[in-house]
Amino acid sequence: MRRERVSDDIYVFTSDLYAQVTASAVVTRGGIVIVDTLPFRSETVEMIDYLNSLGQGPIKYLVNTHWHGDHTNGNCLFDESVELVCHRNCQQAMMQYSEAELAASKEATPLLEGIKVKIPEVVFEEGKMVIHVGNKSIELILSPGHTFDSTMAYVREDKVLIAADTVMPVPYFVWGDRHVFRQSLEALKTYNLESIVQGHGEVLLRGEIPGAIDSNIEYLNIIEKKVQEVVNKGKSRQELNELTIDHCGKSRIPLNGLVQDLHLANIQYLYDEFVRVRDGVETEEDGADEVEHVPDTVVEEAGMDMIESIKEGETEKVAESVL
Ligand SMILES: [Zn+2]
Repeated sequence: MRRERVSDDIYVFTSDLYAQVTASAVVTRGGIVIVDTLPFRSETVEMIDYLNSLGQGPIKYLVNTHWHGDHTNGNCLFDESVELVCHRNCQQAMMQYSEAELAASKEATPLLEGIKVKIPEVVFEEGKMVIHVGNKSIELILSPGHTFDSTMAYVREDKVLIAADTVMPVPYFVWGDRHVFRQSLEALKTYNLESIVQGHGEVLLRGEIPGAIDSNIEYLNIIEKKVQEVVNKGKSRQELNELTIDHCGKSRIPLNGLVQDLHLANIQYLYDEFVRVRDGVETEEDGADEVEHVPDTVVEEAGMDMIESIKEGETEKVAESVL
């Protein structure tokens, strides 16, 4: 596990064992807020031990950014006093998929021995929620695309966006929807950011952020166009192998080359969809319908910390831009 500090109060822990998954911790005067766990027991325990050793107060909240096991397997390793938080969509997806997913993963690796599914009980249902703890305000923002429950955590005081799998070296959408993914990436341009913690791989620094966002949007555009050409020419699914990641504007190197697998899964998914559309099995869906609207202000008290669901200009703008 690699540990780094992206601001005075925010630590990022990166897995050495699986796909460079990141987990983050925001240290506040009122305790510590963690965003995501690491995939395997040993690394999550190492992270918890390190944070406890800081003597900066207890771990109060653990936020899950989406249901995937590589970000949530460690939930069961936290003390009972830690409140688990996620979007309602994540809670529902975990209820539906996590047991089967974990059982399958356990077949593949002994590193998950003793891990149990633990589902968050504090949920938000709207586009955004803010957790106020100590001197920090952390916005949780629904940002679908990678999955329908994908959520980011924005630490206002530090201008750090913990983007989870909304920002990866290659956008990976086979569990979600590329149309809403594009909108979620466009929305990132409205933030003034010092850094972005990606769900996998290196932290992006201020100067790298605009290029990385544009590159991810451009990648989605390129693969749509190129896969559509393959389908239009009546080529077989096997011929997708010639459409390498380098030909689609991305490097093959990040995540120790795993990006090539993600890319192949993306283009196979697109191929199957475009063939179904060509053959009249389905019409191409319109992603704009998937955008959630933010409702009026709702404020709840959770212990000493205030958790609020709010209506804010930024989120409104995103919704309007796709209507
Ligand atoms: Zn994921």
